[in-house]
Amino acid sequence: MTGLSDSFQRPINYLRISVTDRCNLRCIYCMPPEGISVLPRSEILSYEEIQAVAKAAAELGINKVRLTGGEPLVRLELAHLVYMLSQIEGIDDISLTTNGVLLKQYAASLRQAGLGRVNVSLDTLKRERFKHITRSDKLGDVLAGIKGAREAGLEPVKINMVVIRGINDDEILDFARLTRDQGWHVRFIEPMPFAKAASLEFVPAAEIQERLLGLGPLEPCHPTQGNGPARYFRFPAASGTVGFISPLSEHFCFNCNRLRLTVDGELRPCLLSDEEIDLKKPLREGASPEEVGQLIRQAAASKPERHRLLDGVLPKGRPMCQVGG
Ligand code: SAM
Repeated sequence: MTGLSDSFQRPINYLRISVTDRCNLRCIYCMPPEGISVLPRSEILSYEEIQAVAKAAAELGINKVRLTGGEPLVRLELAHLVYMLSQIEGIDDISLTTNGVLLKQYAASLRQAGLGRVNVSLDTLKRERFKHITRSDKLGDVLAGIKGAREAGLEPVKINMVVIRGINDDEILDFARLTRDQGWHVRFIEPMPFAKAASLEFVPAAEIQERLLGLGPLEPCHPTQGNGPARYFRFPAASGTVGFISPLSEHFCFNCNRLRLTVDGELRPCLLSDEEIDLKKPLREGASPEEVGQLIRQAAASKPERHRLLDGVLPKGRPMCQVGG
């Protein structure tokens, strides 16, 4: 096995896979109320095709995969894909990013299939506000999903809160308290100015950190598990952690270790750049694992050094749910 790295000597060991562009929520920063027009089934990679890409990636040194979407749990028999990925030599960490609505139902079977851990997106603990942000009345399902995931042993469950000034930033301390009271691992995320989120104001991580001091001193700590961009802290005696993901105020591109596989089989070197390399056509024309591997190397080599969001350079192509957030 050889290690994969990009032109800036960043090791690449992580593949995020979007398994569907469908979603059962319509978050205001992600989708219009009517949703987006979803791709026909024939355009979407089959589980066998996803497995073939993951196998070729593992040959090159990718050892972590995360399933995302859209909402990954709306794709039928996701646990079967988890199982297929768990059988690939070299893949030792399979995780999932979900809105949690269907998690209670699937947590145990996902765990059994080989899923290691889960991140749940949750931006508010207030029912009316949840309805406003997600355009759906499913807060109870998400909370039950978080509980179900923890009971199924999908630990650590990390809660991702996109913090938007004037919309939910008054709940920062409520979420932080849960790291002490419930052992939650909460990550505060700055919203990126994709189309729907362009007018939403982010709260810089440094300001959130300052506000958290109202609850007590914070000590830096290591991530419980993971390989992402968050910086972690803990309140004394808390079993959970708070983390900060700050793509805008303190970008972390120099540590980027990932490639993304879109729902329709494009390999995307950077979330925030429109460049993509098509894998679906070669796969469907019978490309060998070595040829797929070559395309994966090409994608790694073309990773840009960093995003240019603050210079106004935004991805114009497709929405987050197709790319895989
Ligand atoms: N449906 C799944 C979920 O909700 O976790 C997975 C897909 S969703 C696109 C993945 C993550 O992207 C969620 O945590 C969501 O909050 C985040 N997200 C979507 N749009 C965003 C934006 N403009 N800025 C920052 N995060 C965003």
